[in-house]
Amino acid sequence: MADIETWTKDSFEAKYKALMAGMSEADMKKSAVQVLHLCRCNKCPTNTEAGETTAVYCTLGRADRGLERKGCLCSDCAITRTMSLRWDYYCTKGSAVELSGLKAVETESV
Ligand code: SF4
Ligand code: SF4
Repeated sequence: MADIETWTKDSFEAKYKALMAGMSEADMKKSAVQVLHLCRCNKCPTNTEAGETTAVYCTLGRADRGLERKGCLCSDCAITRTMSLRWDYYCTKGSAVELSGLKAVETESV
């Protein structure tokens, strides 16, 4: 599991397990709101309807409206570095936990 000594090198999966595994949907939303100021989605050409609920897709998952991919700013986001995210276009592909396969593991173990 991720800890302070290995944090910079730890994978998203290890960090997720240390920080977020087992969180309720409401807590996940609260955690997304806390990093909203760092999220680049509201400045992204793909995200045409900027707003508080249309960001932090890496945590909250894909947008329920069809978005046309016009570029992704996630690689330039502090959350990508902090959480060792390795994907892009979360607004169309789904959340990092879905893309990592961890969500399926969590669902199976319920
Ligand atoms: S997830 Fe990437 S492509 Fe989608 S709105 Fe955010 S920065 Fe843009
Ligand atoms: S990685 Fe992308 S979706 Fe996640 S907070 Fe940063 S810009 Fe937003």
